Amino acid sequence: MKNLLKLLYRMLLPKRLLPHVDLFSNIRKLNDDKNTLNEKNVLIVAPHMDDEIIACGGVIQQYVKKSANITVVFMTDGSEGNPNYDPVKLAKLRKEESRHACGLLGVTDLIFLDNIEKSFKNNEENRSAIKNLVEEKNIEAIFYPMAFDGNRDHVTTSWIVLDALKNLKSNLNLYGYCVWSPIIPTLTVNIDDEIEQKIKAMELFKTQLEQFDLIDMTLSNSRYMGYVYGMWKGHSENFIAGTVKEHERLSRLIS
Ligand SMILES: [Zn+2]
Repeated sequence: MKNLLKLLYRMLLPKRLLPHVDLFSNIRKLNDDKNTLNEKNVLIVAPHMDDEIIACGGVIQQYVKKSANITVVFMTDGSEGNPNYDPVKLAKLRKEESRHACGLLGVTDLIFLDNIEKSFKNNEENRSAIKNLVEEKNIEAIFYPMAFDGNRDHVTTSWIVLDALKNLKSNLNLYGYCVWSPIIPTLTVNIDDEIEQKIKAMELFKTQLEQFDLIDMTLSNSRYMGYVYGMWKGHSENFIAGTVKEHERLSRLIS
């Protein structure tokens, strides 16, 4: 009876609202893998230098404690991330910022694909780069931005990852994050033990902190999500966890 009523309500909804309904029900259906956050070979895909720490600075530390191998791949060169700098100089500075921030958390395997920020594309070169990384490093978990993150480079990155993985035979766990839009997570991770180091790492992104208070934004979001989804008073990082197929289906629904 309840399901029948649900179906009726759904039929009464205007067509333009249906993707949202489908989106939410699909998000809730995803995820309950026991291997969650226990993978040995992990790839963090960051559109810009700082996304890796904003979205994953806590879980990176948890993986490091478990002796996992972590690779961070940066999709863009970061050259457009602050209008007060010369683009070439900024790209260099931002790489240094990420090297220091990741180094502080114990991650040294960084790869820079150097696409020009704000104008890069979902092309064969980028898809191959991700695909090759996954194969070469035997990657079991990927952290990447969801296709509904509110930034163009993040959306492009999301589709590069999904398209790169489409024909790959693997049982990858995908963890989708959002930096520039809210998320309804299927996985909320308590990072109380890691928050101090995460903030120290974030403080190293001087060229970005000149423009936005990314630390306040990250802290507020992590505490709010901790309250709402984690039922504790501390800090959290939040993801949509699922298989490649689930993520692809979810992302197609909203695009
Ligand atoms: Zn970004």
